[in-house]
Amino acid sequence: MQSPDALTTTNSEGKRVGVFPALPPKKGFWEVRRKWVQWGMLLLYVAVPWITIHGHPILMLDIANRRFSILGTLFFAHEVPNLVFVTLSFLMGIALFTTLFGRVWCGWACPQTVFIDRIFRKIEAMIDGDHLAQRKLFNAPMSGDKFFKRVLKFGLFALISLLLGQVFLGYFVGPKDAFHYLLESPSDHPGAFFTVMLLSGIVLFDFGWFREQFCLIACPYGRFQSVFMDQGSLFLAYDEKRKDCIECGKCVAVCPTGIDVRQGLQFECIACTACADACDSVMDKIKKPRKLIGYGSLLSLQGIKAKVFRGRTILYATCLGICITALSYKMANRQIYQMDVIRAIDTPYQQIKDANGKEWVINHFKIKFYNLDWEKAVADYAVSKDAEAQGVEIIRSPAGSTALNIESGKGAEAQFFLKVPKSDFHEGVAKSSITGIWNQGAVTNHTEVTLVGPWK
Ligand code: SF4
Ligand code: SF4
Repeated sequence: MQSPDALTTTNSEGKRVGVFPALPPKKGFWEVRRKWVQWGMLLLYVAVPWITIHGHPILMLDIANRRFSILGTLFFAHEVPNLVFVTLSFLMGIALFTTLFGRVWCGWACPQTVFIDRIFRKIEAMIDGDHLAQRKLFNAPMSGDKFFKRVLKFGLFALISLLLGQVFLGYFVGPKDAFHYLLESPSDHPGAFFTVMLLSGIVLFDFGWFREQFCLIACPYGRFQSVFMDQGSLFLAYDEKRKDCIECGKCVAVCPTGIDVRQGLQFECIACTACADACDSVMDKIKKPRKLIGYGSLLSLQGIKAKVFRGRTILYATCLGICITALSYKMANRQIYQMDVIRAIDTPYQQIKDANGKEWVINHFKIKFYNLDWEKAVADYAVSKDAEAQGVEIIRSPAGSTALNIESGKGAEAQFFLKVPKSDFHEGVAKSSITGIWNQGAVTNHTEVTLVGPWK
């Protein structure tokens, strides 16, 4: 006999035990709602790469160029504070959601569940038959019929996986580029081709075969959810006080993770509600009230109403609020075009005298530009007008150097000398300022520079 601590999907030797869940009743209360939610989510997952806010993708993970767009907000991988706040907001959001609603995400909206339930299981049922026929075919020795069904099923799975791999490529390179790559030879874009193959392979392996094993042994959220849940969190609860169970086993037959919901809260449960619908159909037949299995919490099973505002939810909501506020502040004050001016490694200053006998002091500087726009930018620099009025001159190095073209997410560097009248120095120091000029003056930024010179 298997230990209650063991996975239901592995035997005592650790080998996988096939799960062949029956489809939940088509007109089940939850199934009807879940169908619409899942189709909505499925369309959303396909459409997300195409959705933009202010011209920027709602979600794009451009790993090759180390830049991301989340809810139309752009940032680069080296903007560490922003990435930290995004990650923390995401984690706190998940923690809060899980504390309130348990694993509703897993059963209703997770891409794996959505694509398996609405596409892969439907194809399987069409080719292999219902759950009983599927189990029979699985246990049967290889035959012409089995071989044909396997080829047909996995052929269709592979085709859909390739389509999904292509769709998911849009999350990494944008939908237009993904479509463009599709029309060209793989040798022109080997990276994109390899990514599509990899994504398609993962989809085929996971949605077509690995399935519930991913939820049970690989999904990090699945492993963490029990940490976030408390006595008031929702889960699919069996009300054993009612004593109405007739041991028909339908709730077990429909369970995609192969568990028996009557054994209480289990980490394998993905809150898909299939067992609730199956049991409701039984209760209808035996004329007993529905909801022997239904959404509830450990508190509600004891007749206590769980409060929305409780220790964990307040803590997670507060942390989430802090993270979102900090992120909003950082993004609102984010400079897309950045500039730093620093002293070059050189002698501190040089003194010269011009033909008119006027004395000047020269300091050597480096200017660094950073383009955090998603487009190419052009950067130039000059002495700010107020400084020019004092007779300060900028000498470019090399002489005659022109504006810099800077790729998105990249930086560029230039060197220059500032030539300042010696009379501007007080106690060995003079001030000036430099203007960064972006895209022919569309944006400017200024920075103060301090020059060093002779004490008198
Ligand atoms: S116990 Fe019920 S809700 Fe949980 S995974 Fe199984 S069928 Fe879905
Ligand atoms: S479906 Fe309902 S009646 Fe049937 S075994 Fe499960 S809990 Fe009992």
